[in-house]
Amino acid sequence: MERSFLGTHFPKHIRDRYCEMIVDCHMHTPLCGHATGSPLDYLKVGNQKGIHLMTFTCHVPMRQPSFGGQRIRMDRNQLEDYFQLVEEARKQGKACGTEVLCGIEAEVFPVAEELEEMKALLQAHPFDFVLGSLHHQLKAYHDWLEDRKVVSDEDIIRDYFKHLANAAQSGLYHSMSHPDVIRIYGTIDPESFIPQRFETEIRGFLKACATSGTCMEVNTSGLSKGVYELHPDPLILDWAFEEGVDLTIGSDAHAPENVGRHFERVLPLLYSKGFRSLHYFKGGKKHSTAMSASIESASALECL
Ligand SMILES: [Zn+2]
Ligand SMILES: [Zn+2]
Repeated sequence: MERSFLGTHFPKHIRDRYCEMIVDCHMHTPLCGHATGSPLDYLKVGNQKGIHLMTFTCHVPMRQPSFGGQRIRMDRNQLEDYFQLVEEARKQGKACGTEVLCGIEAEVFPVAEELEEMKALLQAHPFDFVLGSLHHQLKAYHDWLEDRKVVSDEDIIRDYFKHLANAAQSGLYHSMSHPDVIRIYGTIDPESFIPQRFETEIRGFLKACATSGTCMEVNTSGLSKGVYELHPDPLILDWAFEEGVDLTIGSDAHAPENVGRHFERVLPLLYSKGFRSLHYFKGGKKHSTAMSASIESASALECL
């Protein structure tokens, strides 16, 4: 495969204009049961779009069916297949100039004993990158809300950000993914999610990220589904900058064509908010990549 910048989304001038390296740190494989295309297909698209580094992050295996089972996550005995698939892509990527890393999208809450088991799994495997996600749409979380009689949208939102803050402080995750995803998938009425009303809880989460060195993910998939907005809301990005939170970025691609989706709109937005670097993890170590100074000339509004 030849290195190519002729893809439709990241021609060379865009890459040079926006970032030292274009990195996409969140994508899936068919082992999740709800994604299509092989890692090699993702690589091909990523390479054509001029992406320098991409990290696969399939959903971590969990035993209890209330975490969704094989509809949304691989089984524990498929982990070796996962490593092998990503390794094949890594080798191909090395030949064509796109680095491929192997991460995992881990769960944040709510069944303590399951999380202990998950923690052991994370520690036993050499993942480059661990995302922390609270998938509130899962039965496990709905059961937890019901048991604690957490009913109103306001209480659900407040609890959600407290769980994210605790998770950021736990040191188990490198980056907290799709941080305001609570506003889609029906657990609350999306209209209830007005960031200003939950500033204390959201800033509590952001401070937890900043003090622990845990990153927050900017997840671009929201621009194509749900309420068609970025995760997190741009106002939360302002607060994140004020609090000194480091960012990772991910497309959350579940199909090859979605790798790097919307980055050409979101990178200028991040620059306009004050961010001057993005982060990625390799072998569990944090690396940063500078945003190009010439991004300044690209207006985020022109793109969003
Ligand atoms: Zn997720
Ligand atoms: Zn995901």
